[in-house]
Amino acid sequence: MTEPQILYEGKAKILYPTDDPNILLTRFKDDATAFNAQKRGTIVGKGEMNCAISSHLFQMLEAKGVPTHWIDRPATNEMRVRAVKIVPLEVVVRNIAAGSLCRETGLAVGMELPRPLVEFYYKNDELGDPLLTIDRLRLLQLATPEQIEQLRQMALQVNQILTAFFQECGITLVDFKLEFGMDAEGNLILADEISPDTCRLWNQAATDPSQRVMDKDRFRHDLGNVEEAYRQVLERVLAHPV
Ligand code: UDP
Repeated sequence: MTEPQILYEGKAKILYPTDDPNILLTRFKDDATAFNAQKRGTIVGKGEMNCAISSHLFQMLEAKGVPTHWIDRPATNEMRVRAVKIVPLEVVVRNIAAGSLCRETGLAVGMELPRPLVEFYYKNDELGDPLLTIDRLRLLQLATPEQIEQLRQMALQVNQILTAFFQECGITLVDFKLEFGMDAEGNLILADEISPDTCRLWNQAATDPSQRVMDKDRFRHDLGNVEEAYRQVLERVLAHPV
């Protein structure tokens, strides 16, 4: 059998067309990249684990009224999704200061934010995914003011649901990145993935700042035990039904 044609290959996933133009197939890879692909590696089993975690979280979000692109999981590392036009924005929600927020503002890592912070980044590797202001969003016509407001509200709703869910898993949801797509009817729906690649997750049972990390920061900062951390997230997530 010949390999089906590839529609798009990203850093962590490959997108294939299907017989139905409204449906795409996503294959999750074990490849890991960080710092805009300057650091590359493999996290063994990541494709299957991230596919399973994302599928579980998308199903839960759907059940709680958030429209997502998720359809089903025909293979352990494959997810069928509704075809959407991806909005070229990375919508980041932060509950606790970490990562670029600390580097760029001087806030202490671990500071609880008074309210969730929603940020919009331009999804553009060549430009290094820069942080956008609302005026720049408008200038670039990446979204209308109404769409920006809708993205913010959806991101905050996802944050509420995920924060409560991870809390039950004994995990603190520090921050995460979402991507949205526009379906054929012009509705914004949640797309891409939600996994330890795209979230900062801290184990509540650990206090040591390097031991508590259960996400891609283990790979980014060479903290070791990357696969074990992802496996632990998977086990805890699957232990909590949607
Ligand atoms: N993130 C992501 N993809 C990106 C950039 C960020 O999934 O291209 C996630 C990241 O894993 C973290 C959150 O978005 O959970 C905020 O990332 P931040 O801006 O702090 O960037 P970093 O410090 O990772 O460079």
